[in-house]
Amino acid sequence: MAGLTFKHIYKVYPNGTKAVNDFNMTVEDKEFIVFVGPSGCGKSTTLRMVAGLEDISAGELTIGDLVVNDVEPKDRDIAMVFQNYALYPHMTVYDNIAFGLRLRRVPRDEKHRNGKMTRDEIHAKVTEAAEILGITEYLGKKPKEMSGGQRQRVSLGRAIVREPKVMLLDEPLSNLDAKLRTQMRAEISKLHAKLNTTFIYVTHDQVEAMTMGTRIVVMKDGYVQQIDTPKNLYNYPCNKFVAGFIGTPQMNFLTGYLKKQGESVIINIDGSDAAIKVPYEKMYKVQPAYLNGDKQVCIGLRAEDISIDPEKVASAAALIKVKVSHKEELGNQTLIYGDISMDGDGYTENGTRVILQSDEAEVNNGDIVVAALNIDKIHLFDIETEKSILPRLPEYNYLDCKVKGGKILVEGVEIALPPAIVCADGEYELLIPTDAVKFCGDIGAEVVANERVDNKTLVSIALGKKRIFAVTDGEVPCGKLNISFDLKKITLLQNGQTAVAAMPETICMEGFMFKEKIVEETSSPVEATPAGMDSLFEGQPSEEVADVKTIKAKKVKRIEFFLNIGGAVFAAPDNISAKLISAMGVKKAFGGKLRFECSPYDLKFTNDGIPAEVTGIADYGSERFAVCTVCGNTAYVRCDGDIEGSVCLTPDIGSLAVIQADMDIRIV
Ligand code: ADP
Repeated sequence: MAGLTFKHIYKVYPNGTKAVNDFNMTVEDKEFIVFVGPSGCGKSTTLRMVAGLEDISAGELTIGDLVVNDVEPKDRDIAMVFQNYALYPHMTVYDNIAFGLRLRRVPRDEKHRNGKMTRDEIHAKVTEAAEILGITEYLGKKPKEMSGGQRQRVSLGRAIVREPKVMLLDEPLSNLDAKLRTQMRAEISKLHAKLNTTFIYVTHDQVEAMTMGTRIVVMKDGYVQQIDTPKNLYNYPCNKFVAGFIGTPQMNFLTGYLKKQGESVIINIDGSDAAIKVPYEKMYKVQPAYLNGDKQVCIGLRAEDISIDPEKVASAAALIKVKVSHKEELGNQTLIYGDISMDGDGYTENGTRVILQSDEAEVNNGDIVVAALNIDKIHLFDIETEKSILPRLPEYNYLDCKVKGGKILVEGVEIALPPAIVCADGEYELLIPTDAVKFCGDIGAEVVANERVDNKTLVSIALGKKRIFAVTDGEVPCGKLNISFDLKKITLLQNGQTAVAAMPETICMEGFMFKEKIVEETSSPVEATPAGMDSLFEGQPSEEVADVKTIKAKKVKRIEFFLNIGGAVFAAPDNISAKLISAMGVKKAFGGKLRFECSPYDLKFTNDGIPAEVTGIADYGSERFAVCTVCGNTAYVRCDGDIEGSVCLTPDIGSLAVIQADMDIRIV
């Protein structure tokens, strides 16, 4: 039993295909995680990296407490079940299950004199597994005498007798017919509960994912789209892809416009003459730019949230006309296909077609019916980015404000601007990140609600007549209190143009790694390669390795690794050089273009180091930053006093992110 951590995991195949990009997640012990997505999205590659069947190009994978990047598959304490069962055809079921155990060596002690499990121990394990899987009566048969479902049970048996820390299953049910798949789905879930071990399961089938996973990782084109529980993926998809991928029938996608009018928002849906009025409080989280009535949005509604049930229609605030084209009878319910445009055909997915669900469909093809929309379940997406514009955890608060005489006037509150923010008088839109709201200061406000979302809390705050949000780790008691904003994070917009930008939080510097031979006289032999790095050279061309390795001798040549960051040289710590060599290979690790990133707090002013020019001081009141030009980029570096002119900077090497620039792969 073990959890896993994926830290900035990448897979680049030798032909240059970037199959997995920056995969990050923590899998808790005993979770049932499902990787799901369309074919080619990188789910099998990710699973195979866990199994050790594919090298990890960059990043760090931990199983339990052990970093396993360079651990042999057989030593990872995992077991894998494949789509094609991978059974030995000439062996009986019993032998297939026992095979791995017979090979496996156990610690030598009195009982296991030859370092192997005893025949009795193997027998006990095989019969127990057969019983769990209901295949006891087939133990004497050969795989070819069994059905697909039975064969897959045998391969599950072979995996469970190994008592792995992690079970990996790669599309194990794809070769089975629909009925058997449903049955095996339930059996695998039962097996998970019984074995009490971590499962990672790969499938392209969203129903399998939804029914089995405690959490699901939805992937597309090598990128993770969302990691969440089945319920949250269904109710709160973070983008249109997840919304469309999860759930049958597929979510209806329409287009339209939102316009705020007083305390309401009017939704106009393209193709329909309906103007749907909803209270503004349901749209608090939507960025104002979408509420002017001139920015088209994508509107998502699931079939069950569009109803022709007379009771719902009688009481609903949001109604729309639908021209029925055809129906699909599913026995317990009927799917009605129609079009909200009277010119639409109800068959073509053209942005006006809708599928709705009905229990008692007394409608006929060609009818025009009135349907009630469940606005509480509406999903809204940006047309271009396809990201949700009604996210559970909004990133920003948007408020109209005035700037006058160096002060922001918002909701009856005056906020003095610090010297770092210079802004002409006028009307602006103020963007305050939800993590920039602080629960101390001198702005009177009132906390009205707390909502727990994942492991964060969304705090709703009344500020004047407006509602704003803060994202915090813990709850904040409801009631009146004082707040403030971290002003270095705010943005002021005028007519859509940035008048004041938030302070950049990332400093980018360019450079590369190089090696140098150091010749030293020594009286005794020394370690040839830096500690722990021998394994990195395995399988590399010998002439390249010879170049890096050193010879044990009295006069020794030692290789040291250095980082050139923005023209200054720093010793490369072992973990950075090892990861770079491992990700890029011995040859390309040296000289290849790297990007180093750190925060304004990770650079110090020193006597030597990276040359920089200070062009000014940004004084945010409680904090000051030197505005520097480093490697041609503007960087804000935390400082206390007044600094000007040419300076040198030294980064905290331990906090640096190291990115291979050409492929955009984060290596450290
Ligand atoms: P999935 O399991 O989601 O169907 P895969 O992980 O098998 O996707 O593949 C992800 C991407 O990597 C695809 O574009 C695929 O073509 C590519 N790919 C997979 N294996 C290899 C390989 N051995 N060499 C090159 N490209 C590969």
